[in-house]
Amino acid sequence: VRAIRCDGAKIAMDPRAETPTAALGEAVIRPLRVGLPEAGTPGSSREPVTLGSEFVGVVESLFEGAEKDLRKRWESKRAVGSPELVCGKCDMCKGGLPNHCRARRTLGVTAQGCLAERFALPMRNLVEVPGAVSDDQAVFAAALGGALHAATIVRVEGKPYVTVLGDGVDALLCAQVMVKLNASVRVLGSRPEKFTLCEKWGIKHRHNAEAGRRHDQDIVVDCTGTPGGLALAMALVRPRGKIVLRGVPPVSAQRNRCSEAPGATAADKPLDLSPLIENEIELLGARSANPAEAIARLAAGEIDVLPLITRRVKFADAPGAIAAASQGEQLKVVVEM
Ligand SMILES: [Zn+2]
Repeated sequence: VRAIRCDGAKIAMDPRAETPTAALGEAVIRPLRVGLPEAGTPGSSREPVTLGSEFVGVVESLFEGAEKDLRKRWESKRAVGSPELVCGKCDMCKGGLPNHCRARRTLGVTAQGCLAERFALPMRNLVEVPGAVSDDQAVFAAALGGALHAATIVRVEGKPYVTVLGDGVDALLCAQVMVKLNASVRVLGSRPEKFTLCEKWGIKHRHNAEAGRRHDQDIVVDCTGTPGGLALAMALVRPRGKIVLRGVPPVSAQRNRCSEAPGATAADKPLDLSPLIENEIELLGARSANPAEAIARLAAGEIDVLPLITRRVKFADAPGAIAAASQGEQLKVVVEM
């Protein structure tokens, strides 16, 4: 099959990648849409890997020996899936925290990804996509799952004042999720052409240079992933308030040598963390989650994702699009398979 692969140095189409087969408990998926990461490519730093972690696709076949009922249940169905591969055996998996599996691997980073004509995934990762959710909406399931998870981790209660830092897809999803939870939300970003989308959803927004630093926000969600973002968050949050760190871009950048993320942090000054102590701030990390709840929210029409697609490319053009995406000008770039 054809697959877009990163060998640690460059991204290219491999016209003769290994045809995937479904191991026990797995299914082979034919992707319909694949979402590209916004900044940097989370490619493996060591082994060559097929890229891609966000997809909606059709379940084509199941593992050998799968029961007839299971085949009937899944074959030809549209599905999304968690990009996290877990072992099911370690203390974290057995303790109900499979998301923190000790042997966790991630599609497109440390496991073969979905940016290929076919790929295999454990069936326990799959979530069926109902007819009410289009392919373009469903491709956001993993990203929206992460935003929903962040809201769960921070426990949004009452009517808190929430500031979301950043103007990428994650920030715009987190802002929408928090508004649905009755929070008073504003977005602070640096690229007005992106964050003015907030007007469509009735969410306040400003340039982060214009924000007062008054220690008055109950919750700050930092989706910038930069030391500067955390510094700003510490200046915005109230004493005993909470900061949620998302920070997808730099994490990707660190793991990847295929493309550079914008806003490189090397020149940033060492971060002064003393406000965390002085103001007794709770600092929380939030990564990703199962996309099941995201699909339910999309089916209910609660979250508006379609305006976040700013570019569409054909599969053959994906390597160039990945390089271009690292410029940070696009929101979600979707590959039409
Ligand atoms: Zn495990």
